[in-house]
Amino acid sequence: AKKQGKNRYVWFEPTMENELRFRNELETGVRRGISNGEFVPFYEQQIDIETGRLVGFEMLARWNSPQLGLVKPDIFIPIAEDVGVIAELSEQLMVRAFADAQEWDPTLTLSVNISPVQLRDPWFAQKLLKLLVENNFPTHRLEIEITESCLHQDVGMVRAMIASLKNQGVRISLDDFGTGYSSLAQLRSLPFDRIKIDRSFITELGDAKASDKIVDAIISLGNGLEMPITAEGIENEQILTTLKRMGQLKGQGYLYGRPETAAQVRNRLTKAGRM
Ligand code: C2E
Ligand code: CA
Ligand code: CA
Ligand code: CA
Repeated sequence: AKKQGKNRYVWFEPTMENELRFRNELETGVRRGISNGEFVPFYEQQIDIETGRLVGFEMLARWNSPQLGLVKPDIFIPIAEDVGVIAELSEQLMVRAFADAQEWDPTLTLSVNISPVQLRDPWFAQKLLKLLVENNFPTHRLEIEITESCLHQDVGMVRAMIASLKNQGVRISLDDFGTGYSSLAQLRSLPFDRIKIDRSFITELGDAKASDKIVDAIISLGNGLEMPITAEGIENEQILTTLKRMGQLKGQGYLYGRPETAAQVRNRLTKAGRM
């Protein structure tokens, strides 16, 4: 038993130490990355699945780290939230995205993801509206995506912020719908403009699994509430065909393309005559 304990000690402690060191380096890296402007917006196409027409883009953050290369948001967003720099990071990305989107066909919308941590700030709506004015970006082109976890907070405050944003023309989507806790209660209590069905349901479509019935039911629900629906995670033609049969939707996913840089988007839009 003693030997076991010793082995465990030897095996375990360095790992924790390494993990801590890695975490520390990441935190420092994220702060430095913000000062150095290493975070860049990528864009994913949003399509009207009926016509195949491009209707807008969702901005997805990437970290162009000198040490680590191109880093995905699942790594750095939680860190930015923990160390209290998520609002700053988000603003920096939005300013870039507004500038990019200003070059596009003005009928194209821009969606941005907003962290639950940002919504805890009672001045969030005012700050966002100010940012839009300062950057001369039309409110009606912006859609913000919030997840259900945003809504475990003071619902009264979130409702007031949503109301003032909507008043100015910003639209609000409920992201990752179906994965959170008490989804239906959220729909009842807050006036969303759109529901985004979580990717996990969409990627499973077409194999006559339960997902088909769930997605069908969410679409009926959206129709009943007059909330338009986006399906994310459309990876192949089979999924697309299934979705087309189910209703009128917007769609996103690898079938249409991977998230692209601003330059790649510019190229795409120039070819389509929409720059
Ligand atoms: P999300 O908002 O649900 O974004 C969709 C994610 O699914 C993106 O991952 C996208 O690249 C990926 N995706 C799109 N189509 C497909 C598909 O057909 N198949 C599969 N397997 N995946 C697909 P990404 O870019 O890694 O972003 C992950 C999450 O990070 C996002 O999930 C969002 O919650 C968060 N995020 C991204 N940018 C920001 C940001 O600027 N601020 C905040 N707060 N969160 C962000
Ligand atoms: Ca999203
Ligand atoms: Ca989502
Ligand atoms: Ca997600």
